[in-house]
Amino acid sequence: MKRYFYDIHCHAMNMSHPNFLAFLKMFEEMLFKDTDKFLKRNRFLILLAVNFLMIKFLFFKKFDYKNITNLLKKVGAAKYPNRAKNLLATMENDIGSFFLLMEECLMDNSIENGQLVMDNKKYDKIVLTPLIMDFGSKTVYYDDIHYNNRPVNKPVVEQIIDLFNGIRNYKKLSPYKMFEIYPFMGINTKNYSLNDVKNMLGTYFGNYKGTHQIFSKKMGYFTGNPQCITSNIYAGVKLYPPLGFDPWPENKRERMKVELLYEFCQEKQIPITCHCSDEGFSIMSKEQMENLTSPAKWENVLKVYSSLKINLAHFGKQDHSTEWQNKILELIITYDNIYSDISHRGFDDNFYMDFKNLLDNYKDEHIKKKIKERILFGSDFMVNLLKTDSYCEYFEVFSKTKHFSSEDKDLFCSANPERFLFKS
Ligand SMILES: [Zn+2]
Repeated sequence: MKRYFYDIHCHAMNMSHPNFLAFLKMFEEMLFKDTDKFLKRNRFLILLAVNFLMIKFLFFKKFDYKNITNLLKKVGAAKYPNRAKNLLATMENDIGSFFLLMEECLMDNSIENGQLVMDNKKYDKIVLTPLIMDFGSKTVYYDDIHYNNRPVNKPVVEQIIDLFNGIRNYKKLSPYKMFEIYPFMGINTKNYSLNDVKNMLGTYFGNYKGTHQIFSKKMGYFTGNPQCITSNIYAGVKLYPPLGFDPWPENKRERMKVELLYEFCQEKQIPITCHCSDEGFSIMSKEQMENLTSPAKWENVLKVYSSLKINLAHFGKQDHSTEWQNKILELIITYDNIYSDISHRGFDDNFYMDFKNLLDNYKDEHIKKKIKERILFGSDFMVNLLKTDSYCEYFEVFSKTKHFSSEDKDLFCSANPERFLFKS
């Protein structure tokens, strides 16, 4: 029997997909979060240089090394623009080439005789579930600049077409075909009417079977017309509160839409991945974002839809506070189908050490076992390039950590995601 390795959380976007203003905003915030006093003191200078550098790269594809990189080197921030360049260089590719680049990186470093090797385990194929993000919300990021006094127009359908073309091309062009690629459909119920939500669910999941076999049979078929996307092509649903999605809105009309979504997904056991971290593309104030993104928001949902299959992604906040993590763990213990992926977390071995210590705090072996069976490996590639240099570098931190046995790691990257993704 074939063995599968899963990366349950990644993104495949090119330059035209994200809203770059949201992107700049995220980058600005990140740059000053964990960095030192010197950077904070020079915030304005660096901000100016980084923005200028990224925009110049976007439009003219070249850098003014003399002036900008030297300036950044001088203030000790050179790695940040390099990371930004690396990320943008990835996103310059069409999506098919983007998957080929990811594959090439693993081929060069971690694949032996056509199998991904991790400790004493070997995996025949790698399943990727790129998460579509709906950037279509009507938001202004910088209301003080001329062309952003009205929201940008960005229909998600273009991202969908590019992604499915990319999967088809990857399947055609890859000499190794290590990847099986099953996207998650991004939806923000706020952007649609109740009827639209109903139609979307019917179109994309009406005949949902949830078996690995049917997804693998359909992978790569795409005519270029989005209408040929029907059931058993999307493997799940992606929700993203920082772009305005509210998991449990007070407003009655909005509530009906999410109730429809949860009812439908619970009934068919369709997996949902919801962003659950204090970082990421955001269109709102920090307070608003934290309120919508907090795992506590899911308590009310789960009281009604207790067997909903959901991945609260990123395992809580990045800032070393434990409140969100503890809430996620509490939900995992209470309910049967709650998962949490560790994407955008394992940038160095310290994360795995802390994570191991956290699990060891649970003395009850049953609880500890249950938690271990709900953790999912994810990379958050290409967004994670803001903190790492390549896909394989992120993978290697996971594959090499000694804080977890290869049996535990096999749970995180194979057994658990398989259970999350597919019906048995
Ligand atoms: Zn993500």
